[in-house]
Amino acid sequence: MYEQRFDGRKFDELRKIEAEVGVVPNAKGSARFRIGNTEAIAAVYGPDEVKPRHFEKMDRAVLMVKYDMMPFSVPDRAKPGIDRRDMEIAEVLMNALNRAIMVEEFPQMMININVYVTQADAGTRCASLTAASMACADAGLPMRDLVASVAGGKIGDSVVLDLTKEEEDFEGGATDVPMAFLPSKGEILLLQLDGKVSKEDLKKVIELGKEGAQKIYEIEREALKRRFSNESKS
Ligand code: ADP
Repeated sequence: MYEQRFDGRKFDELRKIEAEVGVVPNAKGSARFRIGNTEAIAAVYGPDEVKPRHFEKMDRAVLMVKYDMMPFSVPDRAKPGIDRRDMEIAEVLMNALNRAIMVEEFPQMMININVYVTQADAGTRCASLTAASMACADAGLPMRDLVASVAGGKIGDSVVLDLTKEEEDFEGGATDVPMAFLPSKGEILLLQLDGKVSKEDLKKVIELGKEGAQKIYEIEREALKRRFSNESKS
């Protein structure tokens, strides 16, 4: 039984969020997204010529996505460098971003999206995807919509939104469902499942995710608006 959340949140409540764009002056576009104690910074470069050339696609841009967890992002220093998990997460991010960015507008070009997790307390792929999407918008890439991503799941008998690491580990492991949406299109871009859940409960998890993503979406839009209103003043 999990009746009271460790951090006192309601079951459908997101952690505290901070979002800002334009945090990396040397990138074409960038963003920082923080949700509780999980934080990701994304930097976007391009569109540029494809290197190496054999990755080139005649009908669209190629997205080169990198996900990296900083050694200091977790209590027991993460091993530096890219491991299998990092590669899998980069692939997951790339698949979602391919459907959000209008890649068909840049044939034979390459867009580099680098995401660094500075602090990890579960949900890093979701924070990374949200940060990457804001950074792409900041870079002025044409997009079908911003991506808003959050995890949901089941702890004991309770369906919950935005799990912490402590919650993920509760009683041998909760069910974790990372999700991503294109909110204004009503499309789901990512749905992963780690653990077991009934069809009925999965529907409830997705519903919670959708509501959470809508709140994240508003925060992303506010951050982008702030950036562009500051720019027009200077
Ligand atoms: P996500 O971060 O998207 O939830 P995982 O389910 O793979 O992805 O990881 C869950 C959490 O486990 C991470 O957010 C982080 O808090 C922790 N974690 C992942 N990899 C490591 C690692 N190498 N060392 C310590 N903690 C880790």
